Amino acid sequence: MPDRQIAGGSNNTISLRKWNWPLTKTYNGFTPQERVRGWQVSHWLQATGQLIDPKQNACRCSICGSPKNVAYHNENYYAPWTAKLVCKSCHYLIHTRFRNGYALVALVKRAARRAEATWVLSLSNQKIDLAGKLRAENGEDVRNFPSLTTSSCPFPFDELYSLKLDIRTPLMN
Ligand SMILES: [Zn+2]
Repeated sequence: MPDRQIAGGSNNTISLRKWNWPLTKTYNGFTPQERVRGWQVSHWLQATGQLIDPKQNACRCSICGSPKNVAYHNENYYAPWTAKLVCKSCHYLIHTRFRNGYALVALVKRAARRAEATWVLSLSNQKIDLAGKLRAENGEDVRNFPSLTTSSCPFPFDELYSLKLDIRTPLMN
């Protein structure tokens, strides 16, 4: 028996979570639909034991070190396995930094002297189109998580949120 097995066994497909909330705004050029898909993949990776579940493990914010309300923040929704663990307070500052000039300053202060927080130094308070850049570099198929075809657990591609659905009223950043 291996010490650690992938939840559900290697031949069982684990369903993707359904997004039951209003769609978010675009971030880093990723559409609301792409952000939902990234969220689905992140939860699937957690359910299959390939990504730490911050609700089930003692995780700390990669920026300030707080152990409270830690969740994943994605910069790249085409690779949600690269998401950073952040607390709710730092997460709020990340997503409000375009309209709150102090937010990025506060984040950089919190990140001071923490090696795992250096990724914060690459954030800008100007919006970027990372999604468009990644599609230009890797092709449109990067939207459909091609690397997951080699996953140890079959990935339910047919359950991914549609990229074609109409954008509803954006409520969150
Ligand atoms: Zn924090």
